[in-house]
Amino acid sequence: MSHYDFRTPRLHVDAPLRAGAAVTLDRDRANYLFNVLRLGAGDAVLLFNGRDGEWRATVAEAGKRAGTLALAAQERPQPEGGRVELLFAPLKHARLDYMVQKAVEMGAARIQPVITRHTQVARVNLERMRANVIEAAQQCGVLALAEVGEPVAFASMIASLAPDRLVVFCDEDADIGDPVAALEASPSHDGIALVVGPEGGFSAEERAMLLARGHVVRLSLGPRILRADTAAVAALALVQAVLGDWR
Ligand code: SAH
Repeated sequence: MSHYDFRTPRLHVDAPLRAGAAVTLDRDRANYLFNVLRLGAGDAVLLFNGRDGEWRATVAEAGKRAGTLALAAQERPQPEGGRVELLFAPLKHARLDYMVQKAVEMGAARIQPVITRHTQVARVNLERMRANVIEAAQQCGVLALAEVGEPVAFASMIASLAPDRLVVFCDEDADIGDPVAALEASPSHDGIALVVGPEGGFSAEERAMLLARGHVVRLSLGPRILRADTAAVAALALVQAVLGDWR
């Protein structure tokens, strides 16, 4: 974290970022920098687009509804994307916002809604999920933007998992054991799919399908039932600490 600048405002843009380029701001971004943060000409901003790393820029022109930033130098190179994807049954608004934001902070590379038998939510607002990804990344200096998948049915999700992908299945019915030991004993793998169920839990058939796949760790998150959003954060912490980029 040595090169991390916490004080300069950070902004996500879509434009390519390279030395000498100028970035034109749309109305929302100009409003954020010049009206909300009250920046003016010459002030510094950090830019990222999810592809070209983080760049230091200065305000060249500041208007009420538009503006231009001049790129100076790259501050941090684009990191590799993470190895953990979060597959979860979609939740209602505020809890979904929370889950997406926290998953980004915890380094999830992909966030995939899965429709299960007991999923309560019929429609998933993908635009809102993407906006939450960007907001969390902007806040926390995450440069690799998590991909947001279109919702998939549970059975197609199982069918589409690559064979060498480790499935970490958060299962409140797993024998309570040491979750760290369970993860440490996992077979060698290429990437991790972390699966969290809906508030109503997985159906018996879904649980059987998950366990039948093999290459799966059944993860207990302790003696209490957690809400799905809490389970996602707790499981991401365990996975990142034992198998992921916390070590
Ligand atoms: N249907 C269950 C609770 C589901 S909680 C019931 O009402 O009894 C939602 C999801 O969070 C679960 O599907 C599971 O993936 C995860 N989860 C919650 N508590 C857990 C625990 N103690 N251990 C492992 N996973 C848990």
